[in-house]
Amino acid sequence: MNAPVVIVGTGLAGYNLAREFRKLDGQTPLLLITADDGRSYSKPMLSTGFGKNKDADGLSMAEPGTMAEQLNAEVRTHTRVSGIDPGHKRLWIGEEAVHYRDLILAWGAQTVSVPVEGDAGDAIFPINDLEDYARFRAAAAGKRRVLILGVGLIGCEFANDLIVGGHEVDLVAPCEQVMPTLLHPAAAAAVQAGLEGLGARFHLGPVLTRLSRREDGLEAHLSDGQVIECDLVVSAIGLRPRVDLAAAAGLETGRGVVVDRHLKTSHANIYALGDCAEVDGLNLLYVMPLMSCARALAQTLAGTPTAVKYGPMPITVKTPVCPLVVSPVPKGMEGVWTVEGQGADIKALCHAADGSLLGYALTGAAVMEKLALNKALPPLLA
Ligand SMILES: Cc1cc2nc3c(=O)[nH]c(=O)nc-3n(C[C@H](O)[C@H](O)[C@H](O)COP(=O)(O)OP(=O)(O)OC[C@H]3O[C@@H](n4cnc5c(N)ncnc54)[C@H](O)[C@@H]3O)c2cc1C
Repeated sequence: MNAPVVIVGTGLAGYNLAREFRKLDGQTPLLLITADDGRSYSKPMLSTGFGKNKDADGLSMAEPGTMAEQLNAEVRTHTRVSGIDPGHKRLWIGEEAVHYRDLILAWGAQTVSVPVEGDAGDAIFPINDLEDYARFRAAAAGKRRVLILGVGLIGCEFANDLIVGGHEVDLVAPCEQVMPTLLHPAAAAAVQAGLEGLGARFHLGPVLTRLSRREDGLEAHLSDGQVIECDLVVSAIGLRPRVDLAAAAGLETGRGVVVDRHLKTSHANIYALGDCAEVDGLNLLYVMPLMSCARALAQTLAGTPTAVKYGPMPITVKTPVCPLVVSPVPKGMEGVWTVEGQGADIKALCHAADGSLLGYALTGAAVMEKLALNKALPPLLA
């Protein structure tokens, strides 16, 4: 039998690639391998689940068996790829070798963790997939006070969602504003004020150093001496693309698995997309880029080599208390920021010296202007 096209990972990147590929090629054997339970779900929904009162089963869109049927594919769940042997076009699952025609790495990014002293490290929950979410929801049942580590996009989204879901929220991060790598300070201040209006308490500057159990919950000690009482901790301090197995196999890696515009790694017949991939220098951990990659790579795998293009990729942040859309300035470009508006309604625009728009951050009512502004934005990969 012909060796299959093998996709490692059944997140949005893996399943969307499989769907796009099947639109073009219904017959080539297709195998998907995943370390998790293989359920299809939309990861962005993980940070709206408390407000909508949806548990992990409620967020799941299809069982792996249904996906296998729809995709005319085999889906191997709870199966962790442990190595790649590019020279023999095979991968390893422990001792078992699996041969591939083409191998696609869609194995995502892993949560970053920091060492914390104390006896309650097991009360810190990263939430980066449906199984993490299920564990956190089970632990959060009947508990009120949540401490969130990190004030990036995901930390802020969880704060909004958990408060709407009836929790009390403190946030801790060693920075001066929310979403420091993404947002102009004026827009960040609007989002922070919105969340504070809901009841969120921000502790910007210190880090968590010790987490200890008490009779009635947890005690979180911060590096500036503050002590916060809480019941659970959510870690949202960042994601690191999975590169170790690729590097061990001799593939070029940087921030992510390095691929060209055809999503091809430094080895023939091995491709990457999604959170694990660094596409022409860009490692974007969002849905829009991976959808563009899935469409282009499906064409390539079906016999029509196709380079991926990225248009503008604005990000809608799910903080409904202060609506926010941001289009970061593309890597390597510089411009001058102007800020209009006040309070919750901020329009921060970044223009190049020639007057062209490079990026923006819009909050509150200013979000309405995004469609018009998007037309003026530069593509991220032309
Ligand atoms: C809470 C949250 C909210 C978000 N909200 C938004 C949003 O609003 N908009 C937006 O654009 N983006 C959002 N994102 C980002 C977006 O969801 C991700 O960019 C996207 O889902 C990544 O998909 P992926 O398939 O690359 O990775 P993943 O979904 O992480 O999938 C990785 C897959 O690889 C498997 N795997 C890993 N290692 C192995 C191995 N060794 N062997 C076998 N299988 C393996 C895993 O089991 C999994 O199936 C959000 C992310 C989070 C965490």
